[in-house]
Amino acid sequence: MLGTGYNGDMSDADTPRDLLIDGELRPAEGGDRLDVLDPATEEVLASVASAGAADASAAADAAAAAQPGWAATAPRERAEVLRRAFELMTARSEDLARLVTRENGKVLAEARGEVAYAAEFFRWFSEEAVRIHGQVTTAPAGTNRILVLHQPVGVALLITPWNFPAAMATRKIAPALAAGCAVVLKPASLTPLTALAIGQLLQEAGVPDGVVNVVPGRSASTITEAVLAHPAVRKLSFTGSTEVGKVLLRQAADRVLKTSMELGGNAPFIVLADADLDTAVEAAMVAKMRHNGETCTAANRFYVEAPVAAAFTQRLAEAMGAVRMGPGLNDGVGLGPLVDAATRDKVRELVDAALDHGARAVVGGEPGPGPGFWYPPTVLADVAPDNPILAEEIFGPVAPIVVVDDAEEAVARANDTDLGLVSYLCTGDLRRGLALAERLEAGMVGLNRGLVSDPAAPFGGVKESGLGREGGHEGLLDYTEAKYVATEW
Ligand code: NAP
Repeated sequence: MLGTGYNGDMSDADTPRDLLIDGELRPAEGGDRLDVLDPATEEVLASVASAGAADASAAADAAAAAQPGWAATAPRERAEVLRRAFELMTARSEDLARLVTRENGKVLAEARGEVAYAAEFFRWFSEEAVRIHGQVTTAPAGTNRILVLHQPVGVALLITPWNFPAAMATRKIAPALAAGCAVVLKPASLTPLTALAIGQLLQEAGVPDGVVNVVPGRSASTITEAVLAHPAVRKLSFTGSTEVGKVLLRQAADRVLKTSMELGGNAPFIVLADADLDTAVEAAMVAKMRHNGETCTAANRFYVEAPVAAAFTQRLAEAMGAVRMGPGLNDGVGLGPLVDAATRDKVRELVDAALDHGARAVVGGEPGPGPGFWYPPTVLADVAPDNPILAEEIFGPVAPIVVVDDAEEAVARANDTDLGLVSYLCTGDLRRGLALAERLEAGMVGLNRGLVSDPAAPFGGVKESGLGREGGHEGLLDYTEAKYVATEW
């Protein structure tokens, strides 16, 4: 078991920098380390142990050894460990939020929001852990009973992205622990510090050694292939790009693993002519600007009915133009640096190409000077429906606006993509909105709202945006297997 390592004032230096394997912090076997950069300054923030194949296998061995004991733990005991994790995370929320800002770049208010959201997964799944209900029915022929049990699937490999270093980890760890699964977490190499801090926090909350292992590293595939090869691993839960998700699905197929895939998005944001524009702009600001625009749920394409297009564009440009950009720990800033140079360069290339295709920048449109990976709030008007920016996940604070003739055109354009994570729709007529929501090809719909994420709701996408759901009751069932017993008495 780890010592607390926490003295009530968690500076960066107090956070773990080594791999968490079998309840111990250890350096990588070969001594390899990975630098974590501050995206606001490009300076090295910390050096973290970088796991190789041997470390990954050791983490999978530790999880395999811990699995039977954890699965046999009383649900109430698992619930109480998760509840303590919620309380510890809440008590340390300010320090964790500062850590998220330091390694990810998002502004402190957003990081605070993320940490509160992340902690809620521990609370929600502490409540769900004691509600894993089965079922008893009589077979239709009347010959016997059908019992259905939900049993833990086994050791789970969890792979998370950099955009929510805290919440994407807890959204997977909490249901896995609630269901009775031991885990190996492979966080993004850009943001390993928050994941290691959460691993330490879980040890303090009373998670037995080996139940949670955290192995960041510079070579993702080396780590994940070693873990996936372990015979005890029965589940893969991935959040990240559709491209990498497809690679992992192919690997999981070799061992027929149960998989959850939370993949990329290309969210349409529809504004109908009857919408309340105050509501629409407020929702658009949340859907677009939350977490620097670097979210899978970010509004990526705006489809606005012609009668309100000019007014909506002007008001959104005013609101986005008023956001101050600066280092996330500074007061009064609303937009931090993007996470790295590649993310900033991709945004720049997409905007440049959009402008070449006839779009007009109402605000923004040029990256900021370095050091730091800056791109300002940008609104693009006169965007033609075939502008290439509409086909790509922008992952930055850029809002391309397309004018549409009517709701039918908006829905057709919204659905014209291989992705289907979330769609947003603003209308003054809720009945019409609900009818249209049923026709939007997405796992989630924000109706007159720019925020859909909630630990109590099933989060996930359709089409190439993913498989399975996280959060809600569904999120727990994704870490279980149904077993059916036929019997009579
Ligand atoms: P990414 O490049 O796919 O990476 C995600 C994770 O996979 C990281 O831990 C990464 O490790 C690892 N990885 C990369 N290549 C791998 C490989 N060949 N084998 C095994 N693991 C591999 O995605 P990202 O850039 O971090 O995140 C942005 C993407 O995530 C966007 O597409 C966004 O929409 C999506 N996302 C989806 C959701 C959702 O719930 N649907 C939520 C958040 C983000 P390294 O960091 O070491 O490369």
